[in-house]
Amino acid sequence: YAPLAEIDPEVQNIIDKETWRQFSGLELIASENLTSRAAIEANGSILTNKYSEGLPGARYYGGNEWIDELEVLCRKRALQAFNLDPAKWGVNVQPYSGSTANFAALTAMIQPQDRIMGLGLPDGGHLTHGYYTAKKKMTASSIYFQSFPYGIDPTTHLIDYEGLAKQAKIFKPRLIICGASAYPRDWDYGNLKATAEREGAFLMADIAHTSGLIAAQELNNPFEYCDVVTTTTHKTLRGPRAGLIFFRKDGDKYADLEKRVNEAVFPACQGGPHNNTIAAVATALLQVAQPEFKQYAKQVIANARALGETLVSHGYKLQTGGTDNHLLLWDLRPLGLTGSKVEKVCDLLGITINKNAVSGDASAQTPGGIRLGTSALTSRNMTEGDVRQVGEFLHRAVQLSLVLQKEAGTKLLKDFVRVATTDSGKEGFTQVKALHKDV
Ligand code: PLP
Repeated sequence: YAPLAEIDPEVQNIIDKETWRQFSGLELIASENLTSRAAIEANGSILTNKYSEGLPGARYYGGNEWIDELEVLCRKRALQAFNLDPAKWGVNVQPYSGSTANFAALTAMIQPQDRIMGLGLPDGGHLTHGYYTAKKKMTASSIYFQSFPYGIDPTTHLIDYEGLAKQAKIFKPRLIICGASAYPRDWDYGNLKATAEREGAFLMADIAHTSGLIAAQELNNPFEYCDVVTTTTHKTLRGPRAGLIFFRKDGDKYADLEKRVNEAVFPACQGGPHNNTIAAVATALLQVAQPEFKQYAKQVIANARALGETLVSHGYKLQTGGTDNHLLLWDLRPLGLTGSKVEKVCDLLGITINKNAVSGDASAQTPGGIRLGTSALTSRNMTEGDVRQVGEFLHRAVQLSLVLQKEAGTKLLKDFVRVATTDSGKEGFTQVKALHKDV
């Protein structure tokens, strides 16, 4: 029972350094957040010791009296968080992550080699929505299913609902997936439902990014239209890393969907549930149901808008011009910069962002944009004035990248980036200065 610092100072030291990085820097990765101390405590609890394959009341291991109580509580809170009627909706809280939740959901609804349509990765979709390249089927969702992605309109950069409807008429998917990893606007779920119904397809929403904002009723509600809804729990929902699968229970179409979803999670895709994580998800969902969380979600969106306005005021280009949710896609191509370079420069400045493809990008490795999100900054109680200041920092970071590129061609920027990846903070700057004394 000795503490970590005593047993393993090396790991403790890494945790300390990462704690410092998370709290001394500015965290703008749209898929991340800062979960509560309470949820972290639950996640680090002795619940990690217990095996509990199966479901509450039907386990393959003894000693699950309290684990059953926990899983039932987590399910109840998940339904409450999204205001769902338990007679119409059920939920599986065991998925280890968003990716396993998605694959389990797919295998529950459709058969191997059935056809699926999801938003293409370069247009903001997620890998698990059927992504493949010309050279390779990259993900289980494209290996085990036939995938035909839909896209965004090349001019407005909004989902091309008309194009999707036309493609669906020809492709005849068994499943349409909506939801994205990098789409700054809200979804018209009613439109997608009409297309899915016309083609006899299931409609699934993966709300991994926006689930906290949906729970707070700040965005359109996919539960009104979809058969299945999946989410991660660690993005705007602000919980630990895990996944949830919600499934409809009312009506003939859903006769055995509950059984199929549960069996798809275990034993098809997973083994024993991570009970410590389920406890932490339950705690996070309790927090989601509080009035403070609604205020938090409102502020996340207000902050994303304020950040967008600041960048636009400096003449920068945002995909779709702004945002409805927690994220922004910043198109750096008019400046002649790549997202990867700016990501590295920002790393050195203590600002964490990620490179991201923007519409029409050829390369996913060196895409022309970056993705910014305000969930974590808002968890640190930042409001519009603070994020406007963050926008000014980003402006300076981009200007710095431009100066480096202009003054010394790509060589200096390359050195700068090379040093930034191996060292951090001041030390990196000192080395770059030494390399280029004349600049
Ligand atoms: N779905 C969407 C829309 C995502 O953005 C992500 C991750 O970013 C996932 C699923 C996968 O989640 P995980 O990393 O927990 O597997």
